[in-house]
Amino acid sequence: MVSGPSGAGKSTLIRQALAAVPGLAYSVSATTRRPRKGEVDGHDYLFLSREEFERWIEEGRFLEWAEYSGNLYGTPAEKVEEFLREGRSVILEIELRGARMVREKRPDAKMIFVRAPSLEETRKRLVGRATEDSEALERRMTTALSEVAARDEFDYEVVNAGREQAREDMLNTILGIVGGEADAERA
Ligand code: 5GP
Repeated sequence: MVSGPSGAGKSTLIRQALAAVPGLAYSVSATTRRPRKGEVDGHDYLFLSREEFERWIEEGRFLEWAEYSGNLYGTPAEKVEEFLREGRSVILEIELRGARMVREKRPDAKMIFVRAPSLEETRKRLVGRATEDSEALERRMTTALSEVAARDEFDYEVVNAGREQAREDMLNTILGIVGGEADAERA
């Protein structure tokens, strides 16, 4: 599970790890958030209406779910189980409460905390991304504070201070968890 404040670079680091580690799978989450520019339904997220999401909750289709910054996010259980049955390791990009919930169900799951070098830098990156209005940005900053406060709960930490170093740290962390080696050509 990969968690950490918005704007820390989690998605990029995960994308790079998926490209480099053979067999690693990504769990596409469901969300009620509206798609950002360039996001593709079924690839970045499964974009559901609140009604659909609530129906999925009732039907027990989530491994975990949580509300974050006014939207619902959840991990579809069936897909994760399918990957695990295939013997693959699965990456979840997930906020803190969800990660805790998964850990209760699967104590062998590892938590990686990804953060920018400072909260100032986190704010800068969020402002730079400009996908949120100022109210949503403040909400995300408040959440970032509580996430940083919980970092002792994590098994690993990757500080994203520079693109190359962070990519390498993430890759080594993941390889340390799942075993095996990176695909030399793609790493
Ligand atoms: P964003 O809206 O920036 O894509 O994601 C907001 C937050 O929701 C991030 O911290 C992200 O890790 C988290 N998130 C994404 N998918 C899930 C999920 O399936 N479950 C939970 N609990 N959090 C998620």
